[in-house]
Amino acid sequence: MSVFYGPPAPYIPDDLTIPQFILDSHHPVRPVRSNDIPWFVDDASGTKVGYEELRSRSFGLANALKLRYNIGENDVVCIFSANHVDYPVAVWASHRLGSVVSTANPAYTTDELLYQLETTKPVVLFTQADSLETALASARQHGLPNDRIVILDQSTHPSFATLPGLIAYGLRQQTAFVERRLAAGEAKTKIAFLCFSSGTTGRPKAVAISHYAVIANVIQISVHHRIDDPTIPVSQLRWAPGDVCTAVLPFFHIYGLIVNMHFAIFVGTTIVVIPKFNFGDLLESVMRHRITHLMIVPPMLVLFCKHPAAKKYDFSHIKGVYSGAAPLSMELTQQAAKVFPNSLVGQGYGMTETATAVTLIPMPDRLGNGSVGVLLPGCAAKVIKQDGKLGGVGDLGELVITGPSMAAGYTNNAQATSETFVDGWVHTGDEVYFDKNGEMWVVDRLKELIKVRGFQVPPAELEGHLLGHPYVSDVCVVPIPDEYSGEIPRAYVVPHADIASRIADPAEAEKVKAELTKYVADHKVKYKHLAGGLEFIDVIPKNPSGKLLRRVLRERAREEVKAI
Ligand code: AMP
Repeated sequence: MSVFYGPPAPYIPDDLTIPQFILDSHHPVRPVRSNDIPWFVDDASGTKVGYEELRSRSFGLANALKLRYNIGENDVVCIFSANHVDYPVAVWASHRLGSVVSTANPAYTTDELLYQLETTKPVVLFTQADSLETALASARQHGLPNDRIVILDQSTHPSFATLPGLIAYGLRQQTAFVERRLAAGEAKTKIAFLCFSSGTTGRPKAVAISHYAVIANVIQISVHHRIDDPTIPVSQLRWAPGDVCTAVLPFFHIYGLIVNMHFAIFVGTTIVVIPKFNFGDLLESVMRHRITHLMIVPPMLVLFCKHPAAKKYDFSHIKGVYSGAAPLSMELTQQAAKVFPNSLVGQGYGMTETATAVTLIPMPDRLGNGSVGVLLPGCAAKVIKQDGKLGGVGDLGELVITGPSMAAGYTNNAQATSETFVDGWVHTGDEVYFDKNGEMWVVDRLKELIKVRGFQVPPAELEGHLLGHPYVSDVCVVPIPDEYSGEIPRAYVVPHADIASRIADPAEAEKVKAELTKYVADHKVKYKHLAGGLEFIDVIPKNPSGKLLRRVLRERAREEVKAI
């Protein structure tokens, strides 16, 4: 066999925007939920937001965005915020105007946000009081005026517009905006999101994701869970109206945005919105809201299994624990099965460029076995072996995947787009194989990307930054394994000739290493810090055409760390 196929593609509407699909229409797959079930709940305050309120808030905000800022077709709006009950309102209001949402990590430094603003050129920046200082600094450097910055909460900064203020304003005015409607098929090309990913190589790029891709993934995951199967009683569905799911995964990342926010809402769960991950608070939240579903990344599951605080709690009410964004081992799955005695514990696989999941734990399995599951309906996969030929069952190679949720490409980056998106197939840079049951196993990452607690750390970004330091003449950043974070970055630096004599003294060498490590820490979000260390090296191994031989240093790093 040369191509692996998932079940047939389900029906996916191609003429709806995301808010029209989620808020205004009824898809046959969708279970009916009572109007009394809240859609989003703020974890700390318990504030509930229901369907009517979400609809009216998104209309009010769309109206205000049109009247105040004349936002319209293909204008980009950036959300630089932690999870918030009005996050979906900001997203769906923008979509109603035909504009595109770019999501940014609220922990970014000024440099990192500036890079995103320069790449996507937003006309409005949504942020929160906590992130305002960074937002202002980046916006100033980018040339975005302060009156284009909107704070999501009621604010203590009277000079800034707030989201509640804009909604109230928008609702008081005559309707000014014309809802963006799509022609048949247009959802496939109409871009909804720009989410950042470095892909297989280089710096982060803006991945353009269509309305159709998001709607498709929501339906694919729903159909995989047999939500459309009338023979399964609602009480036995893995996801049913009335279930309660955490949103502790960040909405700025594709997994939080599409699976946690859009899929979980579509199938009728209530979403408990948690702005910042703190394990103690999460445990309390799970009990307080009687959470039935956890969407998490492996390090969180490690804490549930190993942290003494977790031992005090009874998690027997939990029905589903879904891990993604990084490998989940069979050992951890088995430990988690004891912590969550009545729950499914499994993982899915996907990436920003495939928006989002392309495989999930097979139904009706209750426990994962270390594989990333089976292909979702409508997906097809090829395994390209090292010799360039297509692999069959059991053969190792690069996963090349297609399906209805593939992203459209990287915005303003034709070169990277042509390398990753080829005739509708996405080259993932992940090394996998399929077993005889159709389950996919991720064996290694062939691409440069480092993943720290599920977050992307592109080596090229750190290398580019370190090369800007006068002490550095060449550099290569590679991952080393870490029990909690999965991986952490380690840098190999060729020192500049000017400091060669200084670092000959071991004490001075340590000082220089500390300075360089701080140089990264001062400019980059925490998970990109060089937690795996920094070492000096005489020369970075390269092939005759000058290409970095990362694998050599990756192996060396692994050996060095083992030896410690
Ligand atoms: P991102 O675009 O940030 O979601 O990162 C996507 C990458 O995360 C994939 O290409 C994989 O390398 C990795 N990844 C995602 N899910 C899994 C998984 N279940 N197991 C192993 N790696 C994963």
